[in-house]
Amino acid sequence: MSKGALFEGLRYSTVLLDLDHTLLDSNQSERLAFAKALGASGISDPDRHLETYQSINRRLWAGVEAGELLPDDVKVRRFSELVPLLGLSSSQSVDPVELAEQYAHGLGSEGDLFPGALEVVSALAEHCTLGLLTNGLSAVQRARVDRLGLEPYVDAVVISAEVGLAKPDPAIFELILEQLGQPDKESVLMVGDSLSSDIEGGHRAGIATCWYEPTGAGTAPEPGPTHRIASLDELLGVVTSSS
Ligand SMILES: [Mg+2]
Repeated sequence: MSKGALFEGLRYSTVLLDLDHTLLDSNQSERLAFAKALGASGISDPDRHLETYQSINRRLWAGVEAGELLPDDVKVRRFSELVPLLGLSSSQSVDPVELAEQYAHGLGSEGDLFPGALEVVSALAEHCTLGLLTNGLSAVQRARVDRLGLEPYVDAVVISAEVGLAKPDPAIFELILEQLGQPDKESVLMVGDSLSSDIEGGHRAGIATCWYEPTGAGTAPEPGPTHRIASLDELLGVVTSSS
């Protein structure tokens, strides 16, 4: 019997959680890892280049969502594209592969969960079966899951780079649901910040979705998420509400 069946009035008994920008302060993780990696390569004032990096990174991950790139392609390519834009002097040589390695290591070791996120996950885990479904690199996401204390609460962790699939492809949702014992789709909720991967993917997989949108001001194209929350604290209410 699933945990959910023990609780009367539970709307969703299986919850799939996104990691980046949903549970984890990924901006902080990126900023710290970026400063460390560039600093180690002797590049002064790394913060100056962060925005350029972020726009390259966003574009490449959009390519992953579109099925045009593999997650592992992003790892080095974001730095192969960045290095020529750093304005380095001819005497400065920076190896994009080395930079990519250091950065990936930093992403795994830097950055915290949003305040209260672990408490929400732990409370959810008392009622529901939880899965972590993330588009990311294997070593980075594994290091984070271990370090951030999420492991005891989740029954499956599916990382796009490990399975050769990425959200919003419904196949990655099918894969994690299989690992979670094929729950009835009506009892499954996908929670995440990204309309293009989490909400679109959940919709295509035929499950309910909850858009985490902390500003409260964003608009979603139709068909839109089933639920939306501006704070993770609201999630337990969404999951347990029978309305
Ligand atoms: Mg996310």
